[in-house]
Amino acid sequence: MERLRFANEREESANRFLQENAVEVNYVNDINGVLSIEGSVRDRGRIFSPSLSVDRDERIIEAQCNCNWYQQNKLYQGPCEHILALRMQQARQNLEFRI
Ligand SMILES: [Zn+2]
Repeated sequence: MERLRFANEREESANRFLQENAVEVNYVNDINGVLSIEGSVRDRGRIFSPSLSVDRDERIIEAQCNCNWYQQNKLYQGPCEHILALRMQQARQNLEFRI
């Protein structure tokens, strides 16, 4: 339950970043179905630099961020809100390109 609640809070923050246009995708590369994404997120006047790699099944293979939350928890409780926001922004742009 605890984990679920925290995951939801981070998803909520990630959604807010997207609404505020605070997320930028700077780099996307697809190698053999592994998608690597790098970008930046503006969070209360600070800029964070998340990056992640996902496989064909949308599973996160690895991810990093320079925020405090990530430094403390790594991925043990799931990705931080910046990593989530970057992934969501990339998926959103990808969809737009396809249309
Ligand atoms: Zn972060």
